[in-house]
Amino acid sequence: MNLNIGVIKGDGIGPEIVAEAMKVLDAAAKTYGHTCDYTQLLLGGASIDVHGVPLTDETIAEAKKCGAVLMGSIGGDAKTSPWYQLEPSKRPEAGLLAIRKALNLFANLRPAILYDELKGACPLKEEITEGGFDLMIMRELTGGLYFGERKTVKEDGVLTAYDSLTYNENEIRRIAKRAFDIAMKRGKKVTSVDKANVLDSSRLWRKVVEEVAEDYPEIALEHMLVDNCAMQLVKNPKQFDVVLTENMFGDILSDEASMVTGSIGMLASASLNETKFGLYEPSGGSAPDIAGKGIANPIATILSAAMMLRFSFDLDKEADAIESAVAKVLKEGYRTIDIMSEGKTQVGTAEMGDLIASYIA
Ligand code: NAD
Repeated sequence: MNLNIGVIKGDGIGPEIVAEAMKVLDAAAKTYGHTCDYTQLLLGGASIDVHGVPLTDETIAEAKKCGAVLMGSIGGDAKTSPWYQLEPSKRPEAGLLAIRKALNLFANLRPAILYDELKGACPLKEEITEGGFDLMIMRELTGGLYFGERKTVKEDGVLTAYDSLTYNENEIRRIAKRAFDIAMKRGKKVTSVDKANVLDSSRLWRKVVEEVAEDYPEIALEHMLVDNCAMQLVKNPKQFDVVLTENMFGDILSDEASMVTGSIGMLASASLNETKFGLYEPSGGSAPDIAGKGIANPIATILSAAMMLRFSFDLDKEADAIESAVAKVLKEGYRTIDIMSEGKTQVGTAEMGDLIASYIA
């Protein structure tokens, strides 16, 4: 199979970590008889430097021609970078929001995996983390409270602010389907999180999710109130497989879930639209404090590339091979500086990429 992949190297550590993910993708492609065609795309600060704007129509058009896009992080140091002298709509981050919108990326996936070897970095008690955990937060990204009508008015002389939370059944159905499809490739369990004891939007959410579940008899569906879910994530994260939720709940729960794994350099993410297309990127930022030093952890980007193979190209075996290679380097004691601990072997960005690529072949 020929994989047509758009590549946004991004800013800061972006080019360093993306280079390692491409190295690993090439190793997986070679091992399993595929070829990778990469199209370089500009976004964020790198685009400002060339075109004066963080996103061009050309980048959007080229991205749409690709099967998926792999991205490093974008942005710079807000105190020192000239990009932040520009008005907010012309800064690097504006490009990211605009490309998500232009590509209609409504489903955000953030896996939170605690590898047994890294459980020392997890802030939870040892009896909770024993054996590690592997869950996926699936957050609706283009609806709900963050996109509803808002206003601030004076009522009877008192300042009053309104934000509205709106979902229609189509918006709920399309993300629920994505969540069930993804659960079919994982542990076959979906926990749909809402606040159906209070909110109408949550009651509609629950109704539509139950309708979608009828087409997936193999999936175990449970509903959980968001306040309980926030507790359960720290009490017993092992109970979860796919956690499906709306925009604001997902914003909060995905940060909570990623923090319990302990390391930003390990966290992959993906944003998907209605087709197989997705944008795959590490959850962390461009880390300008360590850019160019060759010490950034490339694993989040490498795991994002594995998600790309699984969800955009349906190459499960190849994705498994990358994930197993990551688990193997950790088991053998190799660590970048951010996850380093006593008695382990410290390696740089490129060496980590080399090791993972070599374990695939
Ligand atoms: P950051 O995630 O870049 O850095 C926070 C800390 O984590 C830093 O100490 C950094 O060195 C460390 N870190 C991050 N990724 C790492 C990795 N792979 N390996 C080792 N250490 C790593 O967050 P920030 O400093 O708040 O933001 C820096 C820039 O990134 C800003 O311009 C911000 O807007 C941007 N940003 C971009 C994205 C994105 O592209 N999706 C996301 C978040 C932040």
